[in-house]
Amino acid sequence: MLATLTTVFHSPAFNHVGATFDTHIKSAGVASAITEQLPAVSLAAPRSADIDELRRIHEAEYVDALITGTPAGLAESNGFEWTPDLLTGVLASTGGMRDAALCALSEHRATGSLSSGLHHAGPQRGAGFCTVNGLALAALAARDAGASRVLILDLDAHCGGGTAAIIANHNGIEQVDVSVIGFDSYQTDRCSRLVMAAGDNYLQAIERELADIATPDSVDLVIYNAGMDPHESAGGVAGITTEVIRDREQMVFAWAAHHDVPIAFALAGGYARHGFGIADVVELHMLTVHAAHSFG
Ligand SMILES: [Zn+2]
Repeated sequence: MLATLTTVFHSPAFNHVGATFDTHIKSAGVASAITEQLPAVSLAAPRSADIDELRRIHEAEYVDALITGTPAGLAESNGFEWTPDLLTGVLASTGGMRDAALCALSEHRATGSLSSGLHHAGPQRGAGFCTVNGLALAALAARDAGASRVLILDLDAHCGGGTAAIIANHNGIEQVDVSVIGFDSYQTDRCSRLVMAAGDNYLQAIERELADIATPDSVDLVIYNAGMDPHESAGGVAGITTEVIRDREQMVFAWAAHHDVPIAFALAGGYARHGFGIADVVELHMLTVHAAHSFG
């Protein structure tokens, strides 16, 4: 039986990744909300990723650019200004996703990391405020730890083209990707399946994709990119309300529990805008945390 959520990986260093950008400063808000709302859940500092881990999924020229800041076009391909601190934060956040995946796998439980900005980073460069593809890196670490079949479930508003490009080069990792905005789209291939949904068929599309996963009981680990940016006020499309997102999170964790598959979530997208503040974004992400806690 799947064990419940008791640990979420987080470090204040996560906030140093593009420090003024919602995608990262919100992690501190989610950490505070976990402490207040779920005192039985502990926050654990991850072991930061190292450069050798990055080189398994990203080309050496890009990794070198992240270290040195040059060439600037490559070092800043994520969309942020490069600073010497950037890599420290990215390595911590990436390590959080890796440790969450390994914890979920070894303890057969639901867990997560307050990491964001992962899925657009491809083999050769960053993109769309994503620097290092922590989803792919975590999946590889889980394979090393004995998982035969790792499923990356990407429900961020945008497509996970960076992930698709990386996992195409590795065995035992597959992706199901339901998106509502076409940024970073790609052709469905042997490893990754991309489905575009709309505000009025969003939950049905996800339900169908989950139902279509072949022999789900043989999945050893789900890595869940739980973006909140499909929400109509957090960067997404009309019709995807808080209730829809709540139902989505219940559906995902119920699927994992039903098939007895451990699951590790990342925060991913979700943006404050037009009167929808960081506190509102934090409460959306807490829907993931609560679902992980109740369905584990
Ligand atoms: Zn997104």
